[in-house]
Amino acid sequence: MHHCSTSGLPPAPFDWTPRTRLVFGPGTLARVGSLAAELGGRRALIVTDKGIVNAGHVERARATLEAAGIAVTIFDSVRENPDTEDIRRCAEAAAAAKADIFIGLGGGSSMDTAKGGNLMLTNGGAVKDYWGVGKATKPLLPLIAIPTTAGTGSECQSAALIADEVTHQKMACLDPKIAARIAILDPELTISQPPRVTALTGIDALSHAVETAVTRKRTTLSAMYSHEAFRLCFDALPRVLTDPNDLDARGRMQLGAAFAGAAIEASMLGAAHSAANPLTARYGVPHGQAVGVVLPSIVRFNASEHSAEARYGELCRAAGLPDAEALALELDEVLRLTGLAAPLGKFGVTRDAIPTLALEASQQWTATFNPRAITAADFARIYEALLV
Ligand SMILES: [Zn+2]
Repeated sequence: MHHCSTSGLPPAPFDWTPRTRLVFGPGTLARVGSLAAELGGRRALIVTDKGIVNAGHVERARATLEAAGIAVTIFDSVRENPDTEDIRRCAEAAAAAKADIFIGLGGGSSMDTAKGGNLMLTNGGAVKDYWGVGKATKPLLPLIAIPTTAGTGSECQSAALIADEVTHQKMACLDPKIAARIAILDPELTISQPPRVTALTGIDALSHAVETAVTRKRTTLSAMYSHEAFRLCFDALPRVLTDPNDLDARGRMQLGAAFAGAAIEASMLGAAHSAANPLTARYGVPHGQAVGVVLPSIVRFNASEHSAEARYGELCRAAGLPDAEALALELDEVLRLTGLAAPLGKFGVTRDAIPTLALEASQQWTATFNPRAITAADFARIYEALLV
């Protein structure tokens, strides 16, 4: 019997290359000095936060850079969800240090701050001048991204996400010049994460794999990244939750997060991110938790349409799952394992608030890439069913 078409969807035209060289393996942090020298760096600015300093990672990076003859200045004031003031201070620190190379060492916020600081230092003006696609006119300094979480995939993306310091509006600045030249993926660095960070960033990475696999913009090439990212994270996320010191599983998560990040470059994201963002903005639900809570419902909503179901079919075949419903059930189960499963009511969401949340979700950029057209009324039904 012929189930769905095994040859899959007809390939759509594309023009895309991954922009970031990946250096993967336990202990690869030790290569940052020689890699920075290879890029011509003489004076490095390490952009990081105090938690990463306390974990000892910054001192190790500094030692290997100095051993390669590179002067090091440390900017350790990165805050979560960096805003335009953070970016200005980072650019000032880089100017004062006469930096010729940026090292973003930490989670997504460290990498976004390094990208934004690099953009302001080299192109001038204000962050809002670069809000949108391809607005930078001058080349940026080389950036080496060294993630200490396995989540956003920012190390493989040419986007910087920066909030306005007054309005708190998040501005996505996308430009190929913003991408890191090299990403060092050293799984030893991710072992120091608190368990809650492992859970939140891990479920975000898994969600990126699922959403990128099915968007309207996905291509045969981006789907390869999505499918491999899903297989890696699906296998390894439960393992890092039970044994945080499992270096093999940590490495799989880090690769999965990076591959999913690379897929986002080509495919963008979908309706789970649209539904999650208003929950984060209005109720402070952490991004990974917000996405994880809504994702199984979005999979079920999308899969009831034939062309979207075919895309899930490809993902499921890659992961050895029978169909989209099995995928949704597995996502429910992984969310339960992370301890992040919760009804929306627990975050303070009320029935009265749903029309506003649903309208905001329907207006998110990511909603336009969702494989099935989705309206405010659809989002409202999805939120409703998750309320209690
Ligand atoms: Zn995300």
